[in-house]
Amino acid sequence: MATAWVIAEQRDGALAPVTAELVTVARDVADEVRVVVAGDGAGAASSLAAYGVSEIIDLGPLDSVLPGPVLGASVARLVGEEPSVVIGAQTYTGRDALGRASALLGAPVLTNAVAVRREGDQVLTEHQIFGGTMVATAAAELRGHVLVGVRPKSVAAVAAAAPTAPSVRVVEPALDVPGVVVTVVDRQREEREGPSLDEAAIVVSGGRGLGKPEAYQMIEELAALLGGAPGASRAIVDAGWVPYAYQVGQTGTTVKPDLYIAVGISGATQHLVGMKGAKHIVAINKDKDAPIFQVADLGIVADASSLLPRVIEAVRAR
Ligand code: FAD
Repeated sequence: MATAWVIAEQRDGALAPVTAELVTVARDVADEVRVVVAGDGAGAASSLAAYGVSEIIDLGPLDSVLPGPVLGASVARLVGEEPSVVIGAQTYTGRDALGRASALLGAPVLTNAVAVRREGDQVLTEHQIFGGTMVATAAAELRGHVLVGVRPKSVAAVAAAAPTAPSVRVVEPALDVPGVVVTVVDRQREEREGPSLDEAAIVVSGGRGLGKPEAYQMIEELAALLGGAPGASRAIVDAGWVPYAYQVGQTGTTVKPDLYIAVGISGATQHLVGMKGAKHIVAINKDKDAPIFQVADLGIVADASSLLPRVIEAVRAR
């Protein structure tokens, strides 16, 4: 049976939650799971012990280079001749890593998967198409290596039946592959208070129905008061009201919070695909026929500009 190599996703040096999702997928397609991290091998070993990982391969910190290409080139060296499944996240770093490894190994990469399974010698992946209205299944023969990019939040991280104590092996990163190393000359940190959009338990998103960019402040205020994160539809990202990092949906971030509040958002399929996994959905829209109400647990037909200040006042008074 094959080995799965998981390319860890890290944020500020620590493992990002999607890594446990990738390991959960890996256990379903292989007998043995190895995880490649850039620094903090010991931290990864302890946080992934519940997930049935056999080995952590630590490349050391990759702070001064763009990590994706180096991770990809390093994995391509590590995998050896035996057929294996290489699994990464559908993120900037994961895509960079998988693309590089795919080119170096001459192996296929199945991107943007929302489910992965194994049937005999085939790796099967599911992909949402046409704005999430249909699911396509792709298959790759596991004769050589097969690479898979998994969309964050599409599978739940599930602990293994028996915890393991992964060993940690320190390996030199592949910095010597031509064209791999992009040197980092400066870092710009986007200051944002509160939880990140993909991890927040509460997300308050605004859309074009807010009417004007200044009205988005109410979305940020309500999100902050609830201890959540502000999000947005693509319409107001494209209009330049908020940065792309705020976008929820097919071409933005997928969120699965306990509570999603959509304000002035119509509910296009491309938006719904990124938020319909929320436990509870509240929609505020002045059009009673807006599609967002079809997925909402609580729908409020109202003008956002008059309702939002009252909601904010009520939450503040609690
Ligand atoms: P609109 O569709 O214009 O809706 C505005 C809503 O506000 C309406 O329902 C209206 O009734 C309501 N409204 C108006 N005034 C008020 C008021 N005063 N009070 C309350 N409600 C009011 N979209 C995404 O969001 N995320 C994606 O990732 C994404 N990816 C895409 C990828 C592709 C390939 C394509 C083609 C499109 C994608 N889109 C995405 C765009 C998507 O199709 C929609 O155009 C977009 O989601 C619409 O944003 P919206 O709901 O804010 O605006």
